[in-house]
Amino acid sequence: MPTIELKKATKRYRTEQGWLEAVSSVDLTIQQGEFVFVVGSSGAGKSTLLQLIAGQLRADEGLVLLDGVNVAPLPLFPVAKVRRNFGYVAQESHLMRRRTIYENLIMVARTSGLTRAKKLMERTLKALSIVGLGDMGEKYPGELSIGQARRVELARALINSPPILVLDELTANLDEDNIWDMMHVLSELNRGGTTVVMATHASMIVNIMHRRVVTLVDGRIAGDVVGGRYGEIKGRKSKYTLPH
Ligand code: ADP
Repeated sequence: MPTIELKKATKRYRTEQGWLEAVSSVDLTIQQGEFVFVVGSSGAGKSTLLQLIAGQLRADEGLVLLDGVNVAPLPLFPVAKVRRNFGYVAQESHLMRRRTIYENLIMVARTSGLTRAKKLMERTLKALSIVGLGDMGEKYPGELSIGQARRVELARALINSPPILVLDELTANLDEDNIWDMMHVLSELNRGGTTVVMATHASMIVNIMHRRVVTLVDGRIAGDVVGGRYGEIKGRKSKYTLPH
């Protein structure tokens, strides 16, 4: 049961105006099976925090651990095995436009070491059927609606059955029906034990879903409320968050 732990994690970017601290000394613990919304205004540090959690970025200070193992890539090291625990969906699409959906997904399935064509196809079909797109494999990304494309991104993240999903604005630009279809899929996966960490601006879903809500302001955690509402910073604190 992998536990995610951030200990005084800090990430800075070099900008024309000097160094900018996008995530500042964040302490956060997420247990396996939790459903966590990460909210905050644009530029608050949500994407950076998610990339730190999923091992896409390395903290400049502090630690990001999965069951005590550092998740971030070391310079010159191949992608760490620990990263395979995370299914990560970035804000921008990672689908290759000249490849079919099957081909896109099979490429990711191969990274788990699978080579047999039949197994690769089975896995791809399973991931697509979880997101309700079992019949879309032959299409190209450009032929999909925005909602379908985001669901394919989710299938791509799911393909190797990771215990943890880290999702950056997965529901951005979707209409309400598509948002709820997506939330239904995520709720089912979470019910099955998958951890979901999701950055979003969609206050409506946060308020209705009533899950743990971590609010970021200027790269710091301003609120961490279980069963919270969008932007709520006071309430029942998560028992998992370490005292500052
Ligand atoms: P959010 O997801 O909440 O909008 P981000 O994590 O994307 O926040 O960004 C936090 C801050 O870091 C913002 O001020 C943003 O402009 C800055 N930032 C993000 N990525 C980079 C980068 N690659 N280089 C320089 N600054 C960045």
